[in-house]
Amino acid sequence: MNRLFANLPTTVFEVMSSLARETGAINLGQGFPDDPGPEDVRRAAADAVLNGYNQYPSMMGIPELRSAIAAHYQHWQGVDLDANTEVMVTSGATEALAGAILGIVEPGDEVVLFEPMYDAYLPLVRLAGGVPKFVTLQPPHFRLTEEALSKAFSPKTKAVVFNNPLNPTATVFSDEDLALLSRFCRKFDAIAISDEVWEHLVFDGRRHRTVLGLEGMRERSVKIGSAGKIFSLTGWKVGFVCAAPPIMKVLAKSHQFLAFTTAPNLQSAVAYGLAKDDAYFDGMRTNFARSRDRFTAGLNTLGFQVIPSQGTYFLNIDIAPLGETDDIAFCHRLVMEHGVAAIPVSAFYAEGAVKNVVRFCFAKKDSTLDAGLERLAKAIRKAA
Ligand code: PMP
Ligand code: GLN
Repeated sequence: MNRLFANLPTTVFEVMSSLARETGAINLGQGFPDDPGPEDVRRAAADAVLNGYNQYPSMMGIPELRSAIAAHYQHWQGVDLDANTEVMVTSGATEALAGAILGIVEPGDEVVLFEPMYDAYLPLVRLAGGVPKFVTLQPPHFRLTEEALSKAFSPKTKAVVFNNPLNPTATVFSDEDLALLSRFCRKFDAIAISDEVWEHLVFDGRRHRTVLGLEGMRERSVKIGSAGKIFSLTGWKVGFVCAAPPIMKVLAKSHQFLAFTTAPNLQSAVAYGLAKDDAYFDGMRTNFARSRDRFTAGLNTLGFQVIPSQGTYFLNIDIAPLGETDDIAFCHRLVMEHGVAAIPVSAFYAEGAVKNVVRFCFAKKDSTLDAGLERLAKAIRKAA
């Protein structure tokens, strides 16, 4: 068997969701809302299943969706994309990431990764034969620094895998951080593979900026998005890739033998959804920010130390003040004894393991959050 996969653990999201299912715990681990998602978008999908085309769509994605993606990013990010040559639809951001890493990285190439990092990145870089170079971002601000980037980038750097907003830390990178990153990419002639799946989930008036819009990055960036996140329909697995034609030509080749196409009916519904007016997207942000605030306030009242969340579906707590030194053991006890599933953030580290941070998903109904808080109250009483 291929040793890379044979030796990999099962992803922490599946592990925690399985434990939650088995024990009947409230699942605040894996990131998915418990709201059914926008009804009009789901109706558009149902209509396309019944009345639309259900055979293989074109490999690059249905034209209607590719145009909608280009128009969406023109509107929200001010970037000009040619729907025919610079946009491709994938089966989720996961396929987009795999296709980009396998399409760009050759054996021996160095790839800069920022930890904590989404758990798919490192195995994919290794699969491509890439040599990971880690930058460990430091809490509580998780900023990029010139010193850290200088240590990680070299003339052998082929690519950097960047995630903004960052899962799990819920950080939205500042313009200065982005300028620093783009300066290093230009200096070392590196491609930025930019995982922007949380682009619309930014709070408190923050704006997300795509790497494609940064000075000098248009020709050396791959922007990855996910309709699953944009519409809170995480099971749909409809992703998007945007890149300049010379890069896109190669990414199309990796895509053709990874997934080839994506359900056409879901593609039509996503095309419909991307054209929704600003009020929809602003309302979604306001609602999630309200859930974040409700859950943060509840945790603070119980005595948990919350690390503020600027975006995504997530917030983190620091468990060190509770005298806890092992996030995995803590999360295990939480799900088995107290009926709440969470994610130990050490799963997102390869090198600079931080063992005192635990991630919760707050993208839930008030009643789910409140029931979670009730159980967490018992957990903290026991710990104290
Ligand atoms: N990247 C990040 C940072 C994520 O949090 C996720 C998970 N939702 C993905 C990629 C995968 O997205 P998708 O479900 O569209 O494959
Ligand atoms: N992105 C989701 C999270 O961070 C999980 C996705 C998955 O289960 N692979 O919770």
